[in-house]
Amino acid sequence: MAAAQRCLVASGRQHGAAPFQRHAGRALYAAAVPLTPTVLAERILAWYAAAGRDLPWRHTRDPYQVLVSEVMLQQTQVDRVTERWVAWIARWPTARALAAAPRSEVILSWQGLGYNRRAVSLHEAARIMANEGTPTDVAGWQRLPGVGPYTAAAVCALALGHDVIPIDVNVERILRRTLNAGSLEAPPGRGHDLTQGLFDLGATVCLARVPRCDRCPLADACPSRGQRFEPQRRQARFEGSRRQARGRLLDELRHGPLDAGAFDPELAALLIKDGLAELQRGRLRLPTT
Ligand code: SF4
Repeated sequence: MAAAQRCLVASGRQHGAAPFQRHAGRALYAAAVPLTPTVLAERILAWYAAAGRDLPWRHTRDPYQVLVSEVMLQQTQVDRVTERWVAWIARWPTARALAAAPRSEVILSWQGLGYNRRAVSLHEAARIMANEGTPTDVAGWQRLPGVGPYTAAAVCALALGHDVIPIDVNVERILRRTLNAGSLEAPPGRGHDLTQGLFDLGATVCLARVPRCDRCPLADACPSRGQRFEPQRRQARFEGSRRQARGRLLDELRHGPLDAGAFDPELAALLIKDGLAELQRGRLRLPTT
C-alpha cells in the first residue's frame, strides 16, 4: 500500500452538525486502559461488523455511485439523502448516463438537497469521467470539480478499497476525544470498514453535544467518557439571507424562464456565475447544455 494511501484526509463535511468544544474541567471518569490507535481501530471494526447502519450506498463499490453519495452528504443529512440517492442512481446509474443528461435536468433533480452548485460540479465531474475515465487515486479524484481532499479520500476508501481514512467533522471529533487528535491508520485492507465504523460512531454515538457513552465500544478506555460539550459557533441564519433569495430565484427558474424585469439582476449574476442559469435574449433560464 502506497504511503500516500495510508493517511488521514481532512474535510469540511458537515452532516448538519455544528462543531462543539469541551466543557472546562476534568473528565468524570478515569480511563481504565490506554486507548491506542490500534485498540481504537480494533474496537470500531468489531462494533461496525455488529452494528453498522444499512445505507443504500453501502451496497455498491462503484466509484461514481459512491461519489454521488459523498457529494450529496457534503451538506445534507443522511435521512434526507437516502431516497434521493436511490432515485438518482436509478435514473443515472453511470457517469456516462449523467454526462449525457442536459444540465437543466440535473439541476431540477437536485431540488430540495440545497447547495445547488454541487449538482453542477457533479455533472461536470461525470462528463470528465465519461471522457477521461475513472480516477484511481486521491490526487486524480481531486482534479474533478467539487471534489476536495476529503471527498477524494472517501471515494478511495469506500469504493476503491484504499487504506485511507477521510476525516469529516464527526471523525475529527472522535479522534480529538479519544486520541487527543492523534493520528489513526487503517489496518491493511480495512480502510473501508474502519471509515464506515467511524462515520457511524460519530453519527449515532459520539454525538457533538451529549455523547452516548453508555453505548460506546470505546467507553472503558476513552479519556473523554462522561463529558458534555457546548456549541462552539452557530450556523449563519438562512432565513432572510442572500443564499435563501438565490435559492428562491432558482426555484422560480425550475418552473420556467423569467423575462427581464422579473428577476433581480444581481441574484441572476450569482446563479450564472455558478453555472445554475443562463441568459438567452434577455430571459433568465436554466442552462440548456
Ligand atoms: S461516545 Fe463517549 S466514550 Fe465514546 S468516544 Fe465519544 S466521548 Fe468517548
